[in-house]
This record gives sequence, structure tokens and C-alpha cells, in this order.
Amino acid sequence: MSSISEETLRQTIVEIGRRMYAKGFVAANDGNISVRLDDNRILTTPTGVSKGYLEAEKMVVVDLQGKPLSGGRPSTELPLHLFIYQERPDVHAVVHAHPPFATGFATAGLALDKCVLAEVIVTIGTIPLAAYGTPSTEELPNTLKAYIHTCEAFLMANHGVVTVGKDLMEAYFKMERVEHYAKIIFIARALGGERVLPKEAVEKLYDLREVYGEKSLNPGCYACYHECIGEACSNHEVKYDPQAPDYFGEIVEKVLASVR
Ligand SMILES: [Zn+2]
Repeated sequence: MSSISEETLRQTIVEIGRRMYAKGFVAANDGNISVRLDDNRILTTPTGVSKGYLEAEKMVVVDLQGKPLSGGRPSTELPLHLFIYQERPDVHAVVHAHPPFATGFATAGLALDKCVLAEVIVTIGTIPLAAYGTPSTEELPNTLKAYIHTCEAFLMANHGVVTVGKDLMEAYFKMERVEHYAKIIFIARALGGERVLPKEAVEKLYDLREVYGEKSLNPGCYACYHECIGEACSNHEVKYDPQAPDYFGEIVEKVLASVR
């Protein structure tokens, strides 16, 4: 488990909360942050507190089933975090926020899943759009089921964004990247639309993923699965399989197998 002290983890959550609030990723008391302390304990933000004004000693410790062990009441979005930790042993931190550009895409029903920017392909890969689920209920984690094993960042329809990482800063930086990416795509669309990178360029980026610390779990680009754009798409062969199931996760598995 983490060699970082619990005190440092508490301070890091405070710092991430400040940054998210200062950047306008959250308003009022929105958003939540959590990190694994050990195999069965999670440190998370309390409910009803602005992320811009968190205090290290007021964080909440819960077990993997959500039972409070110390501190006050945890975030109402705790089931979302617990679901991710239960499904992904490799994930050690989860960040949830409502950054306006990325949430705008999520609210317009648009995923960020084309191969467009090198940094995003290398560090995050596909950013799918999960269906709407009522916040603070079991509905919300259920919407991530199809994507949780193959993605690192998720748009949640009509709600916001959740990112995961092997540590707190990685999960937070993914949130920054998603919002920055959404802003760029928004501008590109105002200028006539983003151009998808050609297959050869994306394949070179697959190799580069080893160089970056934050290697994406999937190489990205499933945007045109249902409406294939042809050879220009990095995953044309995979997607143009008439037998292929209409299920995102299985498609990603196929792509992962082909690039390993
Ligand atoms: Zn939320």
C-alpha cells in the first residue's frame, strides 16, 4: 500500500480541493476526493464542505463497505468511489467534479472519445460518456459498469466527470486534462471541427505510452464505432467487425489484445 503518510494524504486532498475550487471545477460544496489508506480503508472528503475550504483533520475514514471508522459524515457520492475501488484494485485515488466544459459535453450527450490530442491518447485514452444516474444513489456507480475496467476518466451524463489514478495527483491531473481537452474540442468545433489523427500517428503514440508515467489503459478512439469513418480511424479493423458486440468494454479488450 502507499508509503505516503496519512497526514500527507490528508494535506494532498486539501490542496487538490483548493485547486479544483480555484479553477471552477466545482461550485459550492460540489465534488469529492478519496484515496486508499490500505487494503480496507478509504480516506475521503466530508459531506457538505466546499472543496476550497477543506481541513486535513476533518477528512473521513471509511471501510470498503462504506462503514465510517473516523471523522464525520462522508460525501454522499461515496458509493461511486467505493464501487471504483472494489472493481479496480489498481486504482488508489478517485476525483469527482463538475468542470464546466467537460460537464457541458456530458450534458449535451457527447463523449470525448476520438483520437485527437497526443497527450490525451497517451495518458488517458478514451473518455466515454456514461448514462445518467441519480447522484448519491447506487444508480450512479451502475452507469460506469461498462467502462470501469477499460477507462481512466468518465463523463457522467447531465452531471460531471470522475477520474481515477494510482495516486491522488494522478487522478487530479486527469481531471485537469479532461477539462483542458474539452475546452480545446469546444474551440475546435467553433472553428469547424476537430480532425481525428490518422491511424499511423495513433499507433506511434501507443508505443510512446511506455515513456509517460501515466500510461493510458486504452489507446482511445471508439468514436465512430457505429458509424465507421474508415481507414483514417485508428481502430478501423476492430470496429468494422460485423460480429462485434455492441458493448464498449469488449471492444476495448479486443483493441488492448491487438496492441499488447
Ligand atoms: Zn457530482
